[in-house]
Amino acid sequence: MTIFEKIIARQIPAEIVLENEKVLAFRDVNPQAPVHVLIVPKRVIPRLADASPNDRELLGELLLAAGEVAKKFGLKTGFRVVINSGPDAGESVPHLHVHLLGQRQMSWPPG
Ligand code: AMP
Repeated sequence: MTIFEKIIARQIPAEIVLENEKVLAFRDVNPQAPVHVLIVPKRVIPRLADASPNDRELLGELLLAAGEVAKKFGLKTGFRVVINSGPDAGESVPHLHVHLLGQRQMSWPPG
């Protein structure tokens, strides 16, 4: 069981900011911006590289939820959405998650 499954099962605490039937969103424990929220599917897909056409709807739900969270936090001037897939990207939890970062100026390229 990944740490995110434990959060979904309420076995470990998290600051939940949005929940629906398909996804859960909670604050990142090690925030990289004033707003840093993770949006995770309740059904585990390990990483984007493992997603298949069967996951089409769930992938859409994740991005829609990210937009909803951005609205909830009033991120009117912009925000960034990141998905780390695999070791080169720095993925550390093998449970697909969308990072939503906001309330500070972002730079490009990312590190
Ligand atoms: P990634 O490196 O893309 O796999 O992102 C994993 C993220 O999960 C990191 O930003 C961590 O800070 C975050 N994280 C790990 N454990 C927890 C937790 N218990 N609650 C909230 N966020 C967590």
